[in-house]
Amino acid sequence: MTTTTPRVRFAPSPTGLLHVGNARTALYNWLFARRTGGQFLLRIEDTDLERSEVRYETQLIEDLRWLGLDWDEGPAGPDAAPGSPEKGAHGPYRQSERLEIYAEHTERLLTEGKAYRCFCTSEELEAERKVAVAEHRPQVYSGRCRALSAAVIDQNLAAGRPFAVRLKIGEEPLRFHDLVRGPVEFAAESVSDPILVRSATSVSAGIPVYNYVVTVDDALMGITHVIRGDDHISNTPRQVAIYQAFGWPIPEFAHLSTILGADRERLSKRHGATSISTFRQMGYLPEALVNYLALLGWGAEDGKTETFTLEELTRAFSLERVTPSPAIFDFDKLNWLNRHYLKQADPDRLAELAWGYFAGRLPDANAAPAPVQAWFARLLALFVPAVDHLDQLPLKAAPVFAFDPEAAHAHEENAAILAADSARIVLGELASRVRAHSSPVTPEVFKAWMNEVKAATGVKGKDLFRPVRIALTGTHSGPEFDKLIPLIEDGAALGLAVPSVRDRIERFMGV
Ligand code: GLU
Repeated sequence: MTTTTPRVRFAPSPTGLLHVGNARTALYNWLFARRTGGQFLLRIEDTDLERSEVRYETQLIEDLRWLGLDWDEGPAGPDAAPGSPEKGAHGPYRQSERLEIYAEHTERLLTEGKAYRCFCTSEELEAERKVAVAEHRPQVYSGRCRALSAAVIDQNLAAGRPFAVRLKIGEEPLRFHDLVRGPVEFAAESVSDPILVRSATSVSAGIPVYNYVVTVDDALMGITHVIRGDDHISNTPRQVAIYQAFGWPIPEFAHLSTILGADRERLSKRHGATSISTFRQMGYLPEALVNYLALLGWGAEDGKTETFTLEELTRAFSLERVTPSPAIFDFDKLNWLNRHYLKQADPDRLAELAWGYFAGRLPDANAAPAPVQAWFARLLALFVPAVDHLDQLPLKAAPVFAFDPEAAHAHEENAAILAADSARIVLGELASRVRAHSSPVTPEVFKAWMNEVKAATGVKGKDLFRPVRIALTGTHSGPEFDKLIPLIEDGAALGLAVPSVRDRIERFMGV
């Protein structure tokens, strides 16, 4: 028995940013290839010249690499711009560079009588469609040009009349096997004779349509399993008919369910971030996103394990466990996974990732002296556990930098706390101690002050701590004083935009 190594592909159209749905498609293809020892190809489907943009190709390639997905064949450079390097023996891997291949195949289908030239004008087709609507018939092409005589065809060609190329669909139902959904069948009538190449005055001038080029490419590239979104299910019978016309083997298909938002509507920007680059900018880690996307429509055999590295996924993944029911994108679960990976992340890596969010508050990362870097690592150790994604850090850590005594007084919840007599007394006692002290405030000194203030005023617990916290940070909640005080004092001593404890209390009392 001969076994073929599986060959799969991810075939994005560079018409926008890589969306989580497509990223999941890429991931499942990649996992399947790595799991089975097969090959994973990247093909750029850029035949829609008006909507395709090189910047999207570049971004797409960057996003895939960021997710940790590599490909065995496809663009090999930093991007996929025309003429850029490629690897693999089945190229070119950009459809815009394969137009001659499609034209040759179209000629072959015409010669073999599997396809025909359709000279119908758009007005004629529209009129046909209207009659069909009026007669309550399906709006499919009548096949009028199927049987044009060679003489009529020659006459039309000589007159320079534009034509589309249509595939002749037989009578048999179009069937394929879907690894997620089982056997699928479409009646031939529902497909009618699809256009392969759009209307033009010659085969090579006409633009070949998606269903056609995708099939030619999948066949010539030896794709054995087509794994893609279920929005392509209705395209598949046309593609099956094209395989049949060429006499090519039909691959296995696996159509992945649609990703929905919590309201069960198709996931869109309305629900929050949807593009990989946005998640990246927000400070999600690629391992969290990969883990989350893997679980979006697939589950491990034990049904319990939820955290997987890419390597673990490679061992556990199987298409048989991919579910046909729609997947609901759950931001809370993604956040939970991101927190899990943030906790495990190497501090240097976190520092590198998080630095950019503090632009204007910290010197440039490469210009920062070692003590500033070490200080930043402590800041992260304190605040990273409090965020879902890294772009929330500046806000969480704002009390360390942006001390605004007026705002601290004015804030509604603070004002209620500060209005208590006990608050005034506590802060007065604390301020007098701060004023009498000239060296940096250590956590020990601060602790001693708090004990003295407690003893002198009889105020304790929340009533004692919350006004002090407001006076120090502008907010009544946040990290423990033991960790916060040294961070503030050391930040001030390093000359960063961090007011010292003394500065804060004095400015606060001065309002
Ligand atoms: N370019 C198509 C898309 O992005 C590819 C579909 C397919 O995988 O066949 O939807």
